[in-house]
Amino acid sequence: MTKPFAPTTNYTKIDNSLLDEIMPTLKPTHWQVLCFIVRKTKGWQKEEDAISYSQIMDGTGISSKSTVSSALSNLVESGYITVRNGKDDQTNLIKLNLIKPASATDKKETMPYTEYLKTEHWSKVRKASLQRARYKCQLCKGGGELHVHHNTYENRGHEEDSDVIVLCRSCHAQFHGKDKPQ
Ligand SMILES: [Zn+2]
Ligand SMILES: [Zn+2]
Repeated sequence: MTKPFAPTTNYTKIDNSLLDEIMPTLKPTHWQVLCFIVRKTKGWQKEEDAISYSQIMDGTGISSKSTVSSALSNLVESGYITVRNGKDDQTNLIKLNLIKPASATDKKETMPYTEYLKTEHWSKVRKASLQRARYKCQLCKGGGELHVHHNTYENRGHEEDSDVIVLCRSCHAQFHGKDKPQ
């Protein structure tokens, strides 16, 4: 008899963050696929397993192959798993990433700039640069409306102090040659 919540010796140990933080961010089907992968890997004290599409479909009850494939690519993009080609084109070697790689969290580098300006990361960088500049324009030392301007976008997502400069409205406009705040 199935006793899913009774004390047992048959269990898959997972970190609570999977339930607390990751689950709310995933589509239901993506969550199902991730759970299946966790079962096939962690459930056998392995980090990687050869898993076929049909296994995933059987194991999750998802009937569409394209749903599985979009789930896999989303989980890869989010950095939770790594997928390598298996012995045939139906089988993948799927590995759980024990720690989310930085590259996955650094979509900040590629997201639209307007979106980027709304990230918590940018709000921290912005606040820190305003503090460093003591809430004054770093050119004319004026106050008022202050902008944090990117000298370079090269390190977007992991800016160094010198990558940004605090400018008042008018110095910023001069920086851009025109009144085109950014
Ligand atoms: Zn200024
Ligand atoms: Zn600017």
